[in-house]
Amino acid sequence: MSNCVFCSIIQKEIPTQIVYEDSFSLAFLDIHPASKGHTLVIPKNHYEFLSQIPEHEYIAFMKTLQKIAKGMMHYTEGINILQNNGKDAGQLVPHVHFHIIPRRPGDGIKIETWRTQHDPDLDKVQKTIQSLLKD
Ligand code: 5GP
Ligand code: ZN
Repeated sequence: MSNCVFCSIIQKEIPTQIVYEDSFSLAFLDIHPASKGHTLVIPKNHYEFLSQIPEHEYIAFMKTLQKIAKGMMHYTEGINILQNNGKDAGQLVPHVHFHIIPRRPGDGIKIETWRTQHDPDLDKVQKTIQSLLKD
């Protein structure tokens, strides 16, 4: 996609610290890292949402994500893997990307903080979500 910053990175139009590349995937350092080594892993084809990736590409992409995650576990002993899917979830760049955020003791990073709540509708919610998963 012509106006997508991550597609431009894939095309090597923007100087970027690429750490890994294969046929379906690219991994590179986030320009504004949450921690040293913050890496983004993206599919090379442009999809806005995870649900749009065709199965064969998705499988290849997930294998690559696991490979990068394994390597990063040698960089630090803990990592957070995040994927913001949709504007309401904090997705700023509309090209699927996974964040791999290296964690270190006492780094003070707060990934997400939420208050838990009692939900009296768990059984109803279960049925709703089950019905949405049928196709
Ligand atoms: P989102 O909020 O969409 O999940 O995260 C987008 C991420 O992309 C942000 O962490 C941001 O720093 C990173 N980002 C945005 N533009 C660029 C860029 O041009 N180069 C690199 N390397 N990272 C970028
Ligand atoms: Zn794109």
